[in-house]
Amino acid sequence: MQIITAPAMMQQKIRGLKKQGKTIGYVPTMGYLHEGHLKLIKNAVGENDITVISIFVNPLQFGPNEDFEAYPRDPEKDTKLAREAGVDFIFMPGTADMYPKELSMNIQVTKRAEVLCGRSRPGHFNGVATVIIKLFNIVLPDRVYFGSKDAQQTAIVDGLIAELNFPIQLRAVETSREANGLARSSRNVYLLDEERQQAPELYLSLQKAEKAIKSGERDPAIILQLVKEHIEKNTDGVIDYIEVLSYPQLNEVSSLHGQIIIAIAVKFSKARLIDNIILTVNKEEPPCSEQ
Ligand code: AMP
Repeated sequence: MQIITAPAMMQQKIRGLKKQGKTIGYVPTMGYLHEGHLKLIKNAVGENDITVISIFVNPLQFGPNEDFEAYPRDPEKDTKLAREAGVDFIFMPGTADMYPKELSMNIQVTKRAEVLCGRSRPGHFNGVATVIIKLFNIVLPDRVYFGSKDAQQTAIVDGLIAELNFPIQLRAVETSREANGLARSSRNVYLLDEERQQAPELYLSLQKAEKAIKSGERDPAIILQLVKEHIEKNTDGVIDYIEVLSYPQLNEVSSLHGQIIIAIAVKFSKARLIDNIILTVNKEEPPCSEQ
Protein backbone atom coordinates (compact mmCIF):
# COMPACT_ATOMS: atom_id res chain seq x y z
CA MET A 1 0.00 0.00 0.00
CA GLN A 2 1.27 3.46 -0.88
CA ILE A 3 0.43 6.78 0.73
CA ILE A 4 0.38 9.70 -1.68
CA THR A 5 -0.06 13.36 -0.86
CA ALA A 6 0.54 15.14 -4.19
CA PRO A 7 -2.36 15.25 -6.67
CA ALA A 8 -0.03 15.08 -9.71
CA MET A 9 1.68 11.97 -8.33
CA MET A 10 -1.69 10.30 -7.69
CA GLN A 11 -2.83 11.01 -11.25
CA GLN A 12 0.43 9.72 -12.67
CA LYS A 13 0.19 6.42 -10.74
CA ILE A 14 -3.40 5.89 -11.85
CA ARG A 15 -2.64 6.69 -15.49
CA GLY A 16 0.10 4.03 -15.41
CA LEU A 17 -2.26 1.45 -13.92
CA LYS A 18 -4.97 2.28 -16.45
CA LYS A 19 -2.51 1.74 -19.29
CA GLN A 20 -2.11 -1.78 -17.93
CA GLY A 21 -5.90 -2.22 -18.15
CA LYS A 22 -6.54 -2.07 -14.39
CA THR A 23 -9.91 -0.94 -13.04
CA ILE A 24 -9.93 1.63 -10.24
CA GLY A 25 -12.36 1.60 -7.30
CA TYR A 26 -12.42 4.71 -5.13
CA VAL A 27 -13.76 5.50 -1.66
CA PRO A 28 -13.57 9.18 -0.64
CA THR A 29 -13.50 9.69 3.15
CA MET A 30 -12.63 12.23 5.79
CA GLY A 31 -10.74 9.57 7.75
CA TYR A 32 -11.13 8.32 11.31
CA LEU A 33 -12.14 5.09 9.65
CA HIS A 34 -14.79 2.81 11.12
CA GLU A 35 -16.75 -0.26 10.03
CA GLY A 36 -18.95 1.87 7.75
CA HIS A 37 -15.94 3.02 5.73
CA LEU A 38 -14.60 -0.53 5.73
CA LYS A 39 -17.85 -1.78 4.21
CA LEU A 40 -17.39 0.63 1.30
CA ILE A 41 -13.74 -0.42 0.98
CA LYS A 42 -14.71 -4.11 0.98
CA ASN A 43 -17.10 -3.48 -1.91
CA ALA A 44 -14.41 -1.59 -3.81
CA VAL A 45 -11.77 -4.29 -3.24
CA GLY A 46 -14.23 -6.95 -4.40
CA GLU A 47 -15.12 -5.21 -7.67
CA ASN A 48 -11.91 -3.56 -8.86
CA ASP A 49 -8.26 -4.38 -9.56
CA ILE A 50 -7.03 -1.38 -7.59
CA THR A 51 -8.64 0.32 -4.59
CA VAL A 52 -7.89 3.92 -3.70
CA ILE A 53 -9.22 5.71 -0.66
CA SER A 54 -8.75 9.36 0.09
CA ILE A 55 -8.52 10.87 3.54
CA PHE A 56 -9.12 14.58 3.41
CA VAL A 57 -11.04 16.78 5.82
CA ASN A 58 -12.28 19.32 3.32
CA PRO A 59 -12.44 22.82 4.85
CA LEU A 60 -14.77 24.01 2.08
CA GLN A 61 -17.67 21.90 3.30
CA PHE A 62 -17.56 23.12 6.92
CA GLY A 63 -19.44 26.24 8.01
CA PRO A 64 -17.69 28.92 10.14
CA ASN A 65 -19.21 27.56 13.38
CA GLU A 66 -18.81 23.89 12.56
CA ASP A 67 -16.30 21.29 13.69
CA PHE A 68 -13.53 21.51 11.05
CA GLU A 69 -10.75 21.96 13.63
CA ALA A 70 -12.22 19.46 16.06
CA TYR A 71 -13.07 16.81 13.45
CA PRO A 72 -11.49 13.57 14.74
CA ARG A 73 -8.28 12.53 12.99
CA ASP A 74 -6.06 9.45 13.40
CA PRO A 75 -3.96 8.90 10.26
CA GLU A 76 -1.86 6.14 11.82
CA LYS A 77 -4.81 3.97 12.78
CA ASP A 78 -6.46 4.73 9.41
CA THR A 79 -3.33 3.56 7.60
CA LYS A 80 -3.32 0.29 9.52
CA LEU A 81 -7.02 -0.35 8.91
CA ALA A 82 -6.74 0.50 5.21
CA ARG A 83 -3.76 -1.81 4.76
CA GLU A 84 -5.58 -4.68 6.48
CA ALA A 85 -8.65 -4.05 4.29
CA GLY A 86 -6.65 -4.45 1.07
CA VAL A 87 -6.40 -0.81 -0.01
CA ASP A 88 -3.69 -0.16 -2.62
CA PHE A 89 -3.36 3.62 -2.32
CA ILE A 90 -4.29 6.18 0.31
CA PHE A 91 -4.48 9.65 -1.16
CA MET A 92 -3.92 11.88 1.86
CA PRO A 93 -3.34 15.45 0.67
CA GLY A 94 -2.94 18.48 2.90
CA THR A 95 -5.19 21.50 2.48
CA ALA A 96 -2.48 23.31 0.46
CA ASP A 97 -2.16 20.33 -1.90
CA MET A 98 -5.87 20.54 -2.71
CA TYR A 99 -6.25 24.31 -2.60
CA PRO A 100 -2.85 25.87 -3.40
CA LYS A 101 -4.55 29.17 -4.18
CA GLU A 102 -7.97 30.69 -3.94
CA LEU A 103 -10.36 29.15 -6.43
CA SER A 104 -11.42 31.40 -9.26
CA MET A 105 -14.80 29.73 -9.65
CA ASN A 106 -17.75 28.74 -7.59
CA ILE A 107 -19.39 25.34 -7.88
CA GLN A 108 -22.98 25.69 -6.81
CA VAL A 109 -25.42 22.85 -6.30
CA THR A 110 -28.82 24.22 -7.24
CA LYS A 111 -31.01 21.13 -6.92
CA ARG A 112 -31.53 18.83 -3.92
CA ALA A 113 -29.42 21.13 -1.73
CA GLU A 114 -32.18 23.23 -0.19
CA VAL A 115 -33.52 20.46 2.01
CA LEU A 116 -32.17 18.32 4.87
CA CYS A 117 -28.48 19.00 5.62
CA GLY A 118 -28.30 21.58 2.81
CA ARG A 119 -30.80 23.75 4.64
CA SER A 120 -29.08 23.41 8.03
CA ARG A 121 -25.59 23.73 6.58
CA PRO A 122 -25.67 26.49 3.92
CA GLY A 123 -22.94 26.03 1.32
CA HIS A 124 -22.06 22.55 2.58
CA PHE A 125 -22.91 20.75 -0.66
CA ASN A 126 -21.12 23.38 -2.76
CA GLY A 127 -17.98 22.47 -0.81
CA VAL A 128 -18.69 18.76 -1.22
CA ALA A 129 -19.26 19.09 -4.98
CA THR A 130 -16.07 21.13 -5.42
CA VAL A 131 -13.85 18.64 -3.64
CA ILE A 132 -15.53 15.63 -5.27
CA ILE A 133 -14.98 17.03 -8.77
CA LYS A 134 -11.32 17.65 -7.92
CA LEU A 135 -10.90 14.21 -6.35
CA PHE A 136 -12.54 12.46 -9.32
CA ASN A 137 -10.14 14.25 -11.66
CA ILE A 138 -7.18 13.26 -9.49
CA VAL A 139 -8.08 9.62 -8.81
CA LEU A 140 -9.71 8.93 -12.22
CA PRO A 141 -11.85 6.10 -10.84
CA ASP A 142 -14.07 3.67 -12.77
CA ARG A 143 -16.32 3.07 -9.76
CA VAL A 144 -16.93 5.15 -6.66
CA TYR A 145 -18.48 4.04 -3.38
CA PHE A 146 -20.69 6.26 -1.25
CA GLY A 147 -22.69 5.42 1.86
CA SER A 148 -26.48 5.62 2.06
CA LYS A 149 -25.93 7.00 5.55
CA ASP A 150 -25.25 10.32 3.77
CA ALA A 151 -28.11 9.77 1.35
CA GLN A 152 -28.41 13.41 0.29
CA GLN A 153 -24.71 13.55 -0.56
CA THR A 154 -24.99 10.30 -2.51
CA ALA A 155 -27.98 11.64 -4.49
CA ILE A 156 -26.16 14.90 -5.26
CA VAL A 157 -22.98 13.08 -6.36
CA ASP A 158 -25.10 10.78 -8.53
CA GLY A 159 -26.53 13.89 -10.25
CA LEU A 160 -23.08 15.44 -10.56
CA ILE A 161 -21.66 12.34 -12.28
CA ALA A 162 -24.54 12.27 -14.77
CA GLU A 163 -24.69 15.99 -15.50
CA LEU A 164 -20.93 16.54 -15.80
CA ASN A 165 -20.45 13.33 -17.84
CA PHE A 166 -17.92 11.69 -15.54
CA PRO A 167 -17.27 8.17 -16.90
CA ILE A 168 -17.82 6.73 -13.42
CA GLN A 169 -20.27 4.27 -11.90
CA LEU A 170 -21.60 5.13 -8.46
CA ARG A 171 -22.32 2.38 -5.97
CA ALA A 172 -24.47 3.27 -2.96
CA VAL A 173 -23.65 1.10 0.05
CA GLU A 174 -26.13 0.38 2.83
CA THR A 175 -25.58 2.00 6.23
CA SER A 176 -23.43 0.02 8.63
CA ARG A 177 -24.88 0.00 12.15
CA GLU A 178 -23.82 -1.07 15.61
CA ALA A 179 -25.74 -4.02 17.11
CA ASN A 180 -28.09 -1.55 18.82
CA GLY A 181 -28.93 0.12 15.48
CA LEU A 182 -26.81 3.26 15.85
CA ALA A 183 -25.39 4.27 12.46
CA ARG A 184 -21.61 4.23 12.64
CA SER A 185 -20.07 7.66 12.30
CA SER A 186 -16.71 9.26 13.00
CA ARG A 187 -18.64 11.86 15.02
CA ASN A 188 -20.01 9.24 17.46
CA VAL A 189 -16.81 9.75 19.50
CA TYR A 190 -18.16 13.15 20.52
CA LEU A 191 -21.15 11.61 22.29
CA LEU A 192 -21.20 11.77 26.08
CA ASP A 193 -21.89 8.43 27.83
CA GLU A 194 -25.52 9.24 28.43
CA GLU A 195 -26.01 10.43 24.87
CA ARG A 196 -24.47 7.23 23.57
CA GLN A 197 -27.20 5.33 25.41
CA GLN A 198 -29.82 7.54 23.77
CA ALA A 199 -28.40 7.69 20.23
CA PRO A 200 -29.81 4.29 19.10
CA GLU A 201 -33.28 5.81 19.60
CA LEU A 202 -32.77 7.68 16.30
CA TYR A 203 -32.88 4.45 14.33
CA LEU A 204 -35.67 3.08 16.53
CA SER A 205 -37.76 6.14 15.63
CA LEU A 206 -37.18 5.43 11.93
CA GLN A 207 -38.12 1.79 12.42
CA LYS A 208 -41.32 2.88 14.12
CA ALA A 209 -42.13 5.00 11.06
CA GLU A 210 -41.37 2.09 8.75
CA LYS A 211 -43.70 -0.14 10.75
CA ALA A 212 -46.51 2.41 10.53
CA ILE A 213 -46.06 2.67 6.75
CA LYS A 214 -46.08 -1.11 6.44
CA SER A 215 -49.36 -1.12 8.37
CA GLY A 216 -50.86 1.22 5.76
CA GLU A 217 -50.11 4.76 6.97
CA ARG A 218 -49.58 7.05 3.96
CA ASP A 219 -49.78 10.52 5.51
CA PRO A 220 -46.28 12.10 5.77
CA ALA A 221 -47.44 14.45 8.56
CA ILE A 222 -48.39 11.51 10.78
CA ILE A 223 -45.06 9.80 10.08
CA LEU A 224 -43.16 12.99 10.96
CA GLN A 225 -45.11 13.29 14.20
CA LEU A 226 -44.38 9.67 15.16
CA VAL A 227 -40.63 10.16 14.66
CA LYS A 228 -40.63 13.52 16.46
CA GLU A 229 -42.49 12.18 19.49
CA HIS A 230 -40.18 9.18 19.75
CA ILE A 231 -37.00 11.28 19.65
CA GLU A 232 -38.33 13.91 22.05
CA LYS A 233 -39.50 11.28 24.52
CA ASN A 234 -36.39 9.12 24.45
CA THR A 235 -33.46 11.51 23.99
CA ASP A 236 -32.16 14.86 25.22
CA GLY A 237 -31.13 15.72 21.67
CA VAL A 238 -32.48 18.75 19.84
CA ILE A 239 -34.12 17.93 16.53
CA ASP A 240 -32.49 19.80 13.64
CA TYR A 241 -34.81 18.29 11.02
CA ILE A 242 -37.12 15.39 10.31
CA GLU A 243 -38.22 15.18 6.70
CA VAL A 244 -40.02 12.76 4.43
CA LEU A 245 -39.11 13.29 0.77
CA SER A 246 -39.05 11.44 -2.52
CA TYR A 247 -35.70 9.73 -3.18
CA PRO A 248 -33.38 10.40 -4.94
CA GLN A 249 -35.15 13.56 -6.19
CA LEU A 250 -35.62 14.93 -2.65
CA ASN A 251 -38.95 16.58 -3.40
CA GLU A 252 -41.71 17.10 -0.87
CA VAL A 253 -44.47 14.49 -0.99
CA SER A 254 -48.11 14.91 -0.03
CA SER A 255 -48.75 11.18 0.19
CA LEU A 256 -46.34 8.29 0.52
CA HIS A 257 -45.71 6.17 -2.53
CA GLY A 258 -42.73 5.23 -4.66
CA GLN A 259 -39.22 5.49 -3.24
CA ILE A 260 -39.06 7.79 -0.25
CA ILE A 261 -36.54 8.79 2.38
CA ILE A 262 -37.25 9.53 6.02
CA ALA A 263 -34.25 11.51 7.24
CA ILE A 264 -33.37 13.01 10.61
CA ALA A 265 -30.66 15.15 12.13
CA VAL A 266 -30.40 15.53 15.90
CA LYS A 267 -27.99 17.72 17.82
CA PHE A 268 -26.46 16.38 21.00
CA SER A 269 -24.13 18.46 23.15
CA LYS A 270 -21.08 18.01 20.90
CA ALA A 271 -22.28 15.84 18.03
CA ARG A 272 -24.88 16.36 15.36
CA LEU A 273 -26.02 12.92 14.20
CA ILE A 274 -27.86 12.08 10.99
CA ASP A 275 -29.69 8.93 9.98
CA ASN A 276 -32.27 7.86 7.43
CA ILE A 277 -34.17 5.00 5.92
CA ILE A 278 -35.08 4.66 2.26
CA LEU A 279 -38.25 2.71 1.52
CA THR A 280 -40.27 1.73 -1.52
CA VAL A 281 -43.91 2.30 -0.70
CA ASN A 282 -46.77 0.81 -2.71
CA LYS A 283 -49.97 2.73 -3.17
CA GLU A 284 -52.45 1.64 -0.54
CA GLU A 285 -54.47 -1.37 -1.60
CA PRO A 286 -57.97 -0.21 -2.49
CA PRO A 287 -60.59 -1.60 -0.10
CA CYS A 288 -62.25 -4.76 -1.43
CA SER A 289 -65.47 -3.92 -3.24
CA GLU A 290 -68.53 -5.59 -1.80
CA GLN A 291 -70.18 -8.25 -3.93
P1 AMP B 1 -17.01 10.43 5.86
O1 AMP B 1 -15.62 10.01 6.20
O2 AMP B 1 -17.91 10.56 7.05
O3 AMP B 1 -17.05 11.62 4.93
O4 AMP B 1 -17.63 9.23 5.03
C1 AMP B 1 -17.01 8.73 3.88
C2 AMP B 1 -17.97 7.79 3.18
O5 AMP B 1 -18.32 6.74 4.08
C3 AMP B 1 -19.29 8.48 2.76
O6 AMP B 1 -19.68 7.98 1.49
C4 AMP B 1 -20.24 8.03 3.84
O7 AMP B 1 -21.59 8.00 3.41
C5 AMP B 1 -19.72 6.64 4.14
N1 AMP B 1 -20.16 6.22 5.48
C6 AMP B 1 -19.99 6.89 6.64
N2 AMP B 1 -20.59 6.24 7.67
C7 AMP B 1 -21.15 5.13 7.12
C8 AMP B 1 -21.91 4.04 7.64
N3 AMP B 1 -22.21 3.96 8.93
N4 AMP B 1 -22.31 3.08 6.78
C9 AMP B 1 -22.01 3.16 5.46
N5 AMP B 1 -21.30 4.14 4.91
C10 AMP B 1 -20.87 5.11 5.72
